[in-house]
Amino acid sequence: MDFLKELGIEKENYGACIGGEEWIKSPDSKKIDSINPATGEVIASVYQATEADYEKVLVASEDAFKDWKKVPAPVRGQLVREMADALREKKDALGSLVSLEMGKIKQEGDGEVQEMIDIADFAVGQSRMLYGKTMHSERNDHRMYEQWHPLGPIGVISAFNFPAAVWAWNAFLAAICGDITIWKPSSSVPLCGVAVQNICNRVLKEHGYQGIFNTVIGRGSVVGERMLHDKRVPLVSFTGSTKMGRHVSEVVAERFGKTILELGGNNAIIVDETADMDMVIPAIAFGAVGTAGQRCTSTRRIIVQESRYDELVKRLVSAYQQVQIGDPLADGTLMGPLVNESAVSDFQNAIIRVIEAGGEILYGGDVLEGNYVQPTIASAENHWDIVQEETFAPILYIIKYKTLDEAIAFHNDVPQGLSSAMFTLNVQNAETFLSSVGSDCGIANINIGTSGAEIGGAFGGEKETGGGRESGSDSWKQYMRRQTNTINWGKELPLAQGIKFDLSS
Ligand code: NAD
Repeated sequence: MDFLKELGIEKENYGACIGGEEWIKSPDSKKIDSINPATGEVIASVYQATEADYEKVLVASEDAFKDWKKVPAPVRGQLVREMADALREKKDALGSLVSLEMGKIKQEGDGEVQEMIDIADFAVGQSRMLYGKTMHSERNDHRMYEQWHPLGPIGVISAFNFPAAVWAWNAFLAAICGDITIWKPSSSVPLCGVAVQNICNRVLKEHGYQGIFNTVIGRGSVVGERMLHDKRVPLVSFTGSTKMGRHVSEVVAERFGKTILELGGNNAIIVDETADMDMVIPAIAFGAVGTAGQRCTSTRRIIVQESRYDELVKRLVSAYQQVQIGDPLADGTLMGPLVNESAVSDFQNAIIRVIEAGGEILYGGDVLEGNYVQPTIASAENHWDIVQEETFAPILYIIKYKTLDEAIAFHNDVPQGLSSAMFTLNVQNAETFLSSVGSDCGIANINIGTSGAEIGGAFGGEKETGGGRESGSDSWKQYMRRQTNTINWGKELPLAQGIKFDLSS
């Protein structure tokens, strides 16, 4: 495969790198294999970063931070612009690797790289807009304002399902904010980490920078834990399961570090009595079947007004029958495999549990071969335990409702709060869904599905999704520390709140 060569992927790769330098070759590190989820074959392997490698990367990051924080933000933006150009050049190759290693279809692999380019472009503009406010002081001859300073070397721990884009959301904003990034990719997709770091290395070298973007590919329990406990890392941006996110949150908070948590979702679409089914069906199909149901924003629940239930199920089943399942890199494929055997077991267990609870499988429900499964539709009730959980597989639960209040109650009655949508042509229903008594999620859409967010908005969710916000809007503020400054340019020293504290001197 030519694209592996183009991205600098060897048969054996190394897992630790200080940006702009050679990969660190540790003699005593253990190898992990990157497995093609579509075939079970080994693509290539990576010697995992050791604790000693982590330490080298961290020390280099602290050094790099000393200089990088002094570079003017718009100049930092220039480096991110170069990264955007390098990614444009490698879009096809990197998109293919994302597809090969993670199993999402090539269209979505390319889309992931496009998202990296988009956030880079966004960050370039943002580098000239790290605005602070000015305030009117209550005291004569005083001026108050706030400014934003870089944080330091920040940790990015990412999930397998977005093996490249999540890094970019964090790293490009962090870079323009003056921070250094140390990335621990998921061990299921280490080659995407190697490829992205190789692109960074070339750009950093060409522009005379070192150590701005760094990588440690290694076991979560080794380098991940080191990072969580490391006081030199003021912010850990974690994307992954709610279970792991809870642990990350506890460990980092214990040392007063900051976290950005992007955890599991259990996203629903409400389809009301007025919904346009020509829009509903493709939105649900993309949301539930895309990435084989392995997106944090995948559509997992449909809450449909009972008068539209039969029509919805009939049309959805017919759409599902047309989903071409197969090699994610092949033209025309709409659904690839699940990431590994354990994901297939999760799929099977969920099917058993929904049937045991009283659900009916309306389409699919079977494992095909290897890691391939059928996209599945099941009737369900919202309160069932299995419906309350995020199963990272293409299983869609259909739940009937009678009134809008009931629909919203079902919608919000899950532990997670990431993405949500309503399909309606009724303006009152739409506005109710978006109001304070409507969706409790970080993302709420009307007449578009739950997955496929644009980078311009702040991305993230509430409740067990973790409360983090990444990407657009003012998410950049999380990568900086706020400082409030008061300057007295007069000749008196008045105290705030009119306090008198007279001393004769
Ligand atoms: P996961 O929790 O198993 O792993 C996430 C990361 O944590 C991996 O890099 C893993 O190596 C690392 N890790 C494991 N043990 C660790 C430890 N002790 N210390 C530090 N790091 C450790 O998640 P996954 O299976 O890779 O991803 C799927 C999950 O991610 C789903 O729940 C999905 O919803 C969620 N996700 C959320 C978002 C979002 O933006 N909300 C985006 C993508 C994925």
